[in-house]
Formats: sequence, structure tokens, C-alpha cells
Amino acid sequence: ATYTKDDIRRIVKDENVQFLRLMFTDLYGTVKNVEVPVSQLGKLLDNKLMFDGSSIDGFVRIEESDMWLYPDLSTWTIFPWGSEHGKIAGVVCEVYNADRTPFLGDPRNNLIRVLDEMKKLGFTDFNIGTEPEFFLFKLDPETGEPTAKLNDQGSYFDLAPVDLGENCRREIVLELEHLGFDVEASHHEVAPGQHEVDFKYADALHAADNIQLFKLVVKTVARKHGLHATFMPKPLASINGSGMHTNMSLFTEKGNAFYDADSDSGLSEDALHFLGGLLAHARSYTAITNPIVNSYKRLVPGYEAPVYVAWSGRNRSPLVRVPIARGDSTRLELRSVDPTANPYLAIAAILESGLDGLRNKIEPPKPVDRNIYVMTEEERQANNIVDLPSTLHNALKALRKDDVVLGSMGEHLAASFLEGKRIEWDAYRQDVSQWETKQYLEQY
Ligand code: GLN
Ligand code: MG
Ligand code: MG
Ligand code: MG
Repeated sequence: ATYTKDDIRRIVKDENVQFLRLMFTDLYGTVKNVEVPVSQLGKLLDNKLMFDGSSIDGFVRIEESDMWLYPDLSTWTIFPWGSEHGKIAGVVCEVYNADRTPFLGDPRNNLIRVLDEMKKLGFTDFNIGTEPEFFLFKLDPETGEPTAKLNDQGSYFDLAPVDLGENCRREIVLELEHLGFDVEASHHEVAPGQHEVDFKYADALHAADNIQLFKLVVKTVARKHGLHATFMPKPLASINGSGMHTNMSLFTEKGNAFYDADSDSGLSEDALHFLGGLLAHARSYTAITNPIVNSYKRLVPGYEAPVYVAWSGRNRSPLVRVPIARGDSTRLELRSVDPTANPYLAIAAILESGLDGLRNKIEPPKPVDRNIYVMTEEERQANNIVDLPSTLHNALKALRKDDVVLGSMGEHLAASFLEGKRIEWDAYRQDVSQWETKQYLEQY
């Protein structure tokens, strides 16, 4: 929605808003909040609200830590869960340096920068629709801490008299609708305890904002139901993990640029080149779309997650699927992304890769309509099908070599990201896991 400053002042009065939650996202995709009382509204609306950014991951050095928060009024929402002290409103903010230039360590500002590049090429919008999946786990009734116990443990049809998960999911949908989300579908996923909620696509920036708000809502409502919601990509071995399929299309003033009524496939040249870029850079943006150690435990054969770099119009095993819808719904579905990705960085990386395909007219390889999982390695090689990186380490290695994808983050974010992720990998590789002790302690 679009609001003027006066609209906001009126809403605040009419709705008795008492607190303002100023939101932005750090490098690792975590939503940060600065909550201020409503007395600060005037300052906020005039871009005169400062905060100390020194303790935010990937933000600034200590000596220049004072930063401005500029609210994007189109993101204004009133949270449905009020407090006894009046309502709480939220607004997504852009972070500005003390000298009033956009802070390029802010992933949202960075996405705005990449979207400006897209606009220079004649496109108006990059539309994104996501399908986030998550698990609901039980909270320990005594300590309130999350456990690794699924709440609908047992078989798919084993409906308990009151299915906690279904109720919780319905309330999530209702809260999202109160917040203005257009929820298109919500369903139980393949794994026990696993759910998916799909909401309507939006332009890239608002789609990223929505993902962040969505995660907040899911976690908050789950708590109320005595459950813990997790977006961890592979919380339990040997059952499906959680992905966040990402559907995308480029628009011009004339409509969907991926659609061409005159081509046999219904796909335009732009769609094919975008796809070419998406596949050519896949190994390197995986570090951004699948950014944690655990992400790579999901990208293994047998659990409906992609493992190979390929595309298809029919089959669901490849990295990119082209759903059959045409006309304005023509889109590419990238199936590797998981919900731990920082959505601003992930969308910027995907877009930059696609635009590189357009600029350099990268032709996609032939579609693979067979199940890639059952092909032999020789068959895959003959079809030029490469693997996605098998670990965060390998993904980072590929990322370091790809200037296009690094460029999608800009210098500041790229440097902090590579350094932060190197530390994460190092911590992981020094750990001795339960699997290792079980496997080796007695045998050797
Ligand atoms: N959970 C699967 C994944 O990890 C996706 C399942 C589906 O939506 N078809 O990507
Ligand atoms: Mg789905
Ligand atoms: Mg799904
Ligand atoms: Mg899907």
C-alpha cells in the first residue's frame, strides 16, 4: 500500500498505536528491530531517527556507528498481536550513513541498487513468489525450550483429536491476512511436522520484506501454540528438508517479458537468456541462496531437493523448473533456495545472474526431461549436467571466483559475507559430530 506521512499520523491516532517497530535485516538475514515509543513518530517520518549500528552483523566499524533509519512507508503494518499498552506498528527501514548516503552494507539498499541496474535495461519489475517450508517442533512443557520432537510425529494420516499443527497453521494464515498478505495456499508438506504457506508474488523488494515478516509471524504464532517453528533447511536426517522455491519473472510496461505468444514454448528470448544466466552462475550463488552449513544436508538425492544444475518443463528433479502457466504467469521456478537465505541478497544474486544472461545472450542448455537422479554419472556428463556444490565450503569457493555474483552484493557486503561464512565453516569443520563418534570410536 502507499501511505503519506499524514495517513500514518492519522492511523497512529485512530488505532491507538503506542510503539513503532523499525525493522531492517542484517547480513545473515536476521530481522533487527529498534522499538521506539510513538512519541518518536515525527522524527521517524522526517528521517531524523538515529541508531547505533555497531553491534549489527556486517554493519560498520565502531568509530562510525551512528546511522539513520529511513522508513519505507509502503511497508507500514500494524501487528495483530497487540500489547496491553496499545498497538505496535512496524515499518521496514533503509539504513543511511551519518552523511546521509545510503549505507551499502544494508542488504535492502543493495537490492535497490541492483533493481536500478535492471531498470536501466528497460524492465520495470522483477516479480518474486516464494513457497517457504518450515517444521513445527514441540516446546518442552517445563523449560519452554524447543525440542527435536515433531508435533505430528507418526504417520501422515494419524490425525490426533486436535492436530496442533493444523490449528497453528490456520492461525498463521489468518494473522498473515490481517497483515495484508494474500495467502494462496497452505498445506501440510511431505515430512511429518512440515508445512508450507504460499502467498502472492510481489515486486522483488516487497517480496523480500514479506518473507522477513512471514518468518516473524510463523515463529510468533507457533510460540502461542506451544510450538517452535524452524526454517532450518534439514532439521532431521532421512526425511525431507525445507526449501523456499522461488518463482520469478521480469516485467516491462507491456507485461511479462518472459512470455512470447509466437514462440513454440511460449518462452521469450529474454526468458531463455535469463535462464541461461541462472544456470551459468548457479554454483556460485548457491552460497547465498543456501548460506548455512546445514543447507547442504538438504541438497542431496532422494528428498525432492535439487542436486544438479539443469532445467526442465516437466520434471521436478532439476534446479529450475518452468511451470506450464503462460501469459502473465510465465515464470521460472528456482528450487534450490532455502528459507535461511537473506532474501534481499538472494534475490539480488538471482537477478544479477539472470541479467548477465541477458547482457551476454547466454543460451541455456537443452532441457532435461528425465529424472536426473537415476542417470549414471556418464549420462550426466554427456548432457553437461554439473552438481550443485556439496558443502558450504565448495559453494564459497565457487562464489569467490564469480565476479558477477560477487558484484550482486557490492564490495562491502561481499567482503563481510565471505569472511563471516569462512569463520562459520571453520567452526563447523573443527567440530567432532555424533555421527563420527558413533561410527569410529569403537571401530578404531
Ligand atoms: N521439501 C522439498 C525441498 O526440500 C520440496 C518439496 C516440494 O515442495 N515439492 O525442496
Ligand atoms: Mg509448493
Ligand atoms: Mg513444497
Ligand atoms: Mg514449487
